[in-house]
Amino acid sequence: MEQFDLLIIGGGPGGYSTGIAAAKAGLKVALFEKEHLGGTCLNVGCVPTKYLVDKAVTMEKVRSLVQKEIFRDAGFFSFKKIMKGKQEVVDKLVGGVKMLLKSAGATVINGEAVLEKDRTVRCGETQYQGKNVIIATGSEPVIIPIPGHELCIDSTAVLNLERLPESMVVMGGGVIGLELACAFAAYGTEVTIVEMLPELMGREQKEAVRFWQNQVKKLGISIKTGAKMLRVEADGVYRKAVYEYKGQEETVRCEQVLMAVGRKPRFDGINAEALGLGLNGRFLAVDEHQRTNLDGVYAIGDVAGGAQLAHAAYAEGEAALADILGKPYTRAKYTPACTYTLPCFASVGLNTETAKAAGYEPVMGSFNYAANGMGLAEGENGCVYVICDKKTTKTLGVTIVGANASELIAFAALAVEKELTLEDWEGQIVAHPSLAEMVREAALDAFKKAVHKG
Ligand code: NAD
Repeated sequence: MEQFDLLIIGGGPGGYSTGIAAAKAGLKVALFEKEHLGGTCLNVGCVPTKYLVDKAVTMEKVRSLVQKEIFRDAGFFSFKKIMKGKQEVVDKLVGGVKMLLKSAGATVINGEAVLEKDRTVRCGETQYQGKNVIIATGSEPVIIPIPGHELCIDSTAVLNLERLPESMVVMGGGVIGLELACAFAAYGTEVTIVEMLPELMGREQKEAVRFWQNQVKKLGISIKTGAKMLRVEADGVYRKAVYEYKGQEETVRCEQVLMAVGRKPRFDGINAEALGLGLNGRFLAVDEHQRTNLDGVYAIGDVAGGAQLAHAAYAEGEAALADILGKPYTRAKYTPACTYTLPCFASVGLNTETAKAAGYEPVMGSFNYAANGMGLAEGENGCVYVICDKKTTKTLGVTIVGANASELIAFAALAVEKELTLEDWEGQIVAHPSLAEMVREAALDAFKKAVHKG
């Protein structure tokens, strides 16, 4: 049986990034992947969705320039070419991951791995022995077995549609539902979101959510919150989505129903019960080093719960690898979260409510894109919100709605992580003109010190 320092099951963002880093650190690594390197994120998740969203953002931008009579018309677009372009980007990235693993010296084994006792992994007829094993098997879409669920498509299928649907009902107003709803609405699909909870983005900064929702509504999406999907019926080539709203049954006839109601951990090749792997609810139970209860067996990414985000999986892989190498590792306290809607919504750290619950006295500053030189030049709507602690002036959290929010949040995340104070912000120099100036201005505004705000 061939011996390895590290066996990794699953080649998604958590698995592949840890495989590259471990091989670069000198470990003998084998990574097992039964489908495509890059996992959900690169193949049927984040990256292809962002390709679709980017084209939608461009279309909206062109439309706003048509309104200003700068462009004569918005022209035509090809949905087929968008889907083709999306696949080219996916293939390029997956090829890049393959090349990086190879050049780092990791062995990639294409096939379904089965974890056996004592850190042995079987793939087909071959067995491999690992000093350490990382389980990075990811997650898959949840299907709620409502009547007619087989008539729905999931997030994987929607990313492979051959034709732009004229209408679509999105069951679930979470991250996936919102991103795809916005992109398809911008393409011209008539979209209805059916969300069970009373509000969208319920755990985010209230003012930011209100601002964001007003912008999203401009895409013409019909948003039904507090609405529970009951069943889906066939109606020729169409579907009838039936949901309960304010005690009444309502029906929307549409071409596609997208079910986006969450993702569940994948245990392919991992018989947790037989192996004696501890669970935390539906997920594998891990400590802060991503160790499971089995010696030398780690779990990272969606299978281990926590934030179901690719960048969270990267960080978890880094924590596990540091533990294997016996090196110190301090993980950031907060994970930034971005929802790539139109406009983008990004946040990091605490909001007013969670700051209060943590014992702070939060004060909020804000700054609007309409008062920022770059925001105006780019014709963007948006707003930055910064939450600080009144007593210590430390930065506790940032929420950004608007263009480039997913980029600006990196700067904000550093400020929150390093707990920048009012004095720190006052001494900070930000390039002008730039959208990033708004993060500083909003932080200063928390103490009524913003220069460009009346
Ligand atoms: P989610 O948990 O974010 O949202 C699912 C929504 O479906 C919930 O709001 C829930 O109330 C609703 N719902 C459930 N049953 C319903 C019913 N019967 N009728 C109406 N609504 C119902 O899940 P998701 O959007 O599928 O995303 C899955 C995971 O993928 C998330 O954890 C997310 O973090 C991750 N993801 C992240 C990004 C990103 O970071 N940009 C993008 C896509 C996905």
